[in-house]
Formats: sequence, C-alpha cells, structure tokens
Amino acid sequence: MYIISGCLLGQNCRYNGGNNFIDWVKAFSRKHNYIPVCPEVEGGLETPRPPVEIRDGRAVNREGSDVTEFFRRGCEMVWENSCRRAQELGEEIEGAILKANSPSCGSGMIYDGTFSRQLTEGDGFLTAF
Ligand code: SF4
Repeated sequence: MYIISGCLLGQNCRYNGGNNFIDWVKAFSRKHNYIPVCPEVEGGLETPRPPVEIRDGRAVNREGSDVTEFFRRGCEMVWENSCRRAQELGEEIEGAILKANSPSCGSGMIYDGTFSRQLTEGDGFLTAF
C-alpha cells in the first residue's frame, strides 16, 4: 500500500483551494492500493488557508501565525490512518508519493521560509515524521 498526497490525485486541498493533479500519479493509483492524505487538512487547517513555510523548524504562515501544532497533529493523523488502512488490507506500507517542495509533503527541498519562492535543502513535516 502506498501513501499519496491527495493534491497530486486532484483533491482540492492546496492552500489556495486548488490541486496539483499529475496524470501518472492517478494512473499509478489505479493499479495499486493507496491512501490519499493531506496532513495540513487532517491536522485541522481549513482550505483555502494562508500559505505556510518552515522557518527555524517551525511552520509559520504568511500572516505570521505559528501553525506547527496543526502540522504535527496532521502527521500523526496521516500515520495512524495509513497504518490502520494497511492493516485492513493486510499489506505493508511500501512507499509514498508526496508533493515536492511542500512544507508538509516536500522531500529534500522546501521553500526557505521567506515566501519569495526560494528553495532550500530540507524536508516537510510529514517526510521528516
Ligand atoms: S499538505 Fe501535502 S497533500 Fe496537502 S495540499 Fe499540501 S502538498 Fe498537497
């Protein structure tokens, strides 16, 4: 079973109410068991919501509010729900397809906390969880 960022499957859970649909991810989902996840929404944030970047290890939105606890709760929810789903299916969690550069789902590179579209090395909260 795979964990897949919901926005890559067309779910309108992005901060701006849109999605990041990618054809090959949808095609992959048709051939594998998976769970769609959105840690920001599952953690209790609304859609749409102000964009968030990671600054000094904290999740801070563009208005200056610290939403780290929402992010942490979202990671816990995603992990609990994914483990439960895998158990129901009698499968291991084989991998994840997560949206690049996101402060939640990003892997290796994320936005640098200045809201200027600059990337820096780092992982989103879910990837680091
Ligand atoms: S938290 Fe992840 S799944 Fe949710 S909108 Fe952002 S990148 Fe997509």
